[in-house]
Amino acid sequence: AETAETRGFEAEVSRLLHMMVHSVYSDREIFLRELISNASDACDKLRYEALTNAALIAGDPAFKISVAVDEAARTLTVSDNGVGMSHDDLIANLGTIARSGTAGFAEKLTGDAKKDVQLIGQFGVGFYSVFMVADKVTVTSKRAGEDVAHVWESNGEGTYTVAPAAKASRGTDIVLHIKEDADEFLKKFRLETIIRTYSDHIGVPITLAVKAKDQAEDAEAAAVNEGSALWTRPKADVTEEQYKEFYHHVARAWDDPALTLHYKAEGMQEYTVLLYIPGASPMDLFDPARKPKVKLYVKKVFITDDTGELVPGWLRFLKGVVDSQDLPLNVSREMLQNNPLVTRMSKAIVKRVLGELEKLAESDKDKFEAIWANFGAVLKEGIYEDHERREQLLKLARFKSTNGDGWTTLADYVARMKEGQKAIYYVTGPDEAAARRLPQLEGFKAKGVEVLVLADAVDEFWLQMVTEHEGHAFQSITRGGSDLKDIKGEDKAEDAEKPKATEGAMAALTVLMKEVLGDNVKEVRASDRLTETLACLVADESAMDMHLERLLKAHKK
Ligand code: ADP
Ligand code: MG
Repeated sequence: AETAETRGFEAEVSRLLHMMVHSVYSDREIFLRELISNASDACDKLRYEALTNAALIAGDPAFKISVAVDEAARTLTVSDNGVGMSHDDLIANLGTIARSGTAGFAEKLTGDAKKDVQLIGQFGVGFYSVFMVADKVTVTSKRAGEDVAHVWESNGEGTYTVAPAAKASRGTDIVLHIKEDADEFLKKFRLETIIRTYSDHIGVPITLAVKAKDQAEDAEAAAVNEGSALWTRPKADVTEEQYKEFYHHVARAWDDPALTLHYKAEGMQEYTVLLYIPGASPMDLFDPARKPKVKLYVKKVFITDDTGELVPGWLRFLKGVVDSQDLPLNVSREMLQNNPLVTRMSKAIVKRVLGELEKLAESDKDKFEAIWANFGAVLKEGIYEDHERREQLLKLARFKSTNGDGWTTLADYVARMKEGQKAIYYVTGPDEAAARRLPQLEGFKAKGVEVLVLADAVDEFWLQMVTEHEGHAFQSITRGGSDLKDIKGEDKAEDAEKPKATEGAMAALTVLMKEVLGDNVKEVRASDRLTETLACLVADESAMDMHLERLLKAHKK
């Protein structure tokens, strides 16, 4: 099975490359953003490794990224003195697509070059975007701490070569042989603009040197970016554009953030937070392997983005950076678990994020609801995982209901409850439309009794933990015992005039039906929840709800 999977990835790469090569995309300039972003990541990685192995950066401790153009030779070179890649790294990283969410991304590809490349612009496919502007790419790299270097080369037509190479210093040089129709990427002014636009927030200094066609002497390298990481700058000095670009970099996403939260905490602990709620829902949001990916820095040194300690799983859609002044620089990834400083920081961050969401729900309902539509299903995991936040999350939560097709809060639902109604009624289903079609809703509709329509898998789970809200029990309408008799609804006059079955006749009928159905049902009884459909299935009061039972069965397969 393993070989087959590997081949699959390679096929996706070939498909992507084909599109890149034939792309007519107008935003081809993003290739430079991708290369600089990778170079900056490589510097971050080595800075971290050097914390425990200073020899890795001995003799060359200052990280830098350089962009150099030789217009006559038609080459553009991006170099960094970061961690570099070994022979195996080159194959693993540049020969396959290993990015999370890529499988979902590849599924969306249509085969229509124009549309697909737009998709690429939206999601970014990292390194491979170089083939939009280059007809040959040469990557020479030396892993920090190793003696040998290797060169990876490809023309973007589905194959690549790897060979030993000569390179004195650690890090990576990526040489693009610029396509005939991409001259613009050999021009100084154009490149300066691109780097400023996309990479100003990068914390490593970036220099640019352009040797024009008619120029004899070597070009001088000049600094282009600010060189200080964005989150370290005062809020007042950061433009919305810059926040957005930084989001693209840390989140590896190309949508616009729906919410940006940037603050510095001072007091018991000192740390800076720059977090984003994405504007679009990533494709791997419900991938069981998906962990929260907030990056942890200690005094501007990147430590890890692979920790579930900073934010809980039910906030795993958050992207960004937390930079602590108090954690020891040599903190290992393992030490982060159960670290009291981290736990306290995490609690404070969760509080702040929820506070921010509450504020937004007040000030900009539409914006909040858009966030809820994307991430509500994840936030609701917090209702059953985090009992400290349960009440707060229930108040924040939005639900669909039979009262129109918009969102409602529990408070608004309760305010609309009918006289004599005690429970908060809900129906669950595999999706909203299916849930809305259930015949069990008929009696409620006829009486004008509102029912929450819960269609996320997670709903079945938090409803196991939360049985009531402010004195009102949650009651499934597909389970026994949801008695409509006591509710003064809006029964229409004509209903009252309809002939009613006598109790005796009804009892005879239900006994007969039980006999016919035998062990397939536990009980047959008359119900007031139907007005048009003759019969429906309900789960026993004490049994599992129907949709949950189905979910669990599907899971066991
Ligand atoms: P991503 O950055 O999302 O991981 P990319 O396609 O941009 O995806 O890069 C693929 C991988 O190649 C990176 O994860 C990294 O391991 C490696 N890589 C790319 N560029 C460099 C570089 N300049 N130095 C070291 N490793 C690199
Ligand atoms: Mg990348």
